[in-house]
Amino acid sequence: MKKGLEKFYELVEAFESLPTIGKKSALRLAYHVVMNDNYCGIKIAHSIENALRNITKCSKCGSMSEHEICEVCLDDTRDNEKLCIVQSAKDIFIIEDSKQFDGKYFVIEELDQEAIDSLTKFINENGVRMVLFAITPSIANDAFILYIEDRLKNLDINFSKIAQGVPTGVSLENVDILSLSKAIQSRVEI
Ligand SMILES: [Zn+2]
Repeated sequence: MKKGLEKFYELVEAFESLPTIGKKSALRLAYHVVMNDNYCGIKIAHSIENALRNITKCSKCGSMSEHEICEVCLDDTRDNEKLCIVQSAKDIFIIEDSKQFDGKYFVIEELDQEAIDSLTKFINENGVRMVLFAITPSIANDAFILYIEDRLKNLDINFSKIAQGVPTGVSLENVDILSLSKAIQSRVEI
C-alpha cells in the first residue's frame, strides 16, 4: 500500500507527529487535504509557514508575540503592580479568557538563573507589588514557587497562588474556565 504513495504517507506521518493526532486521524486529515480539499491543504500550509515566520517570544515577558514586545506588555491600561507567573505562554490565553486578571504576565518555562534575572528586571521596571502564581499544584510546582519566592525575598512583594478548583497535577489548559475563574478570585496568600 505504502509503495508508490511515499509522499502521501510522509504527510500522514507529519500529521501524526502533532499532539492529540493518532494514526487514524492523521490518515483522515491527509486524505482530506489531498483528495477532498486541496485549497484547505494549501491554506494550512501557508498559515503554518506564515505563523512560524512571524510569531516569536515577547522580549519582555516571554509570551507569544508577532512583534518584539507583546500587546499585553504594551497595554498601559493594565495594572503594572500585578504580575502573573505562568509556566507556558499558552496558559496566558486561558487566564485571559477567564477575565479575572488585569495585570501583566511573565512566562518561566525553565527555572534557571537567566529566568530569575529577567524576572527581577521585569519586576523592577514595572514596579510589581503582587505576584500571582497561576500554576497547578504538584510537588514539583510547589518547589518551583518556593524557589522563586526565595530568590525574590528582598523585594517588597506579596505572593499568592491560584487556589481551590484547580486539581493537583493537571495542566492549566485542562482546567475549565469557571474553575479557573474561581481559583483566581479565591487565590491564597503564600
Ligand atoms: Zn510581553
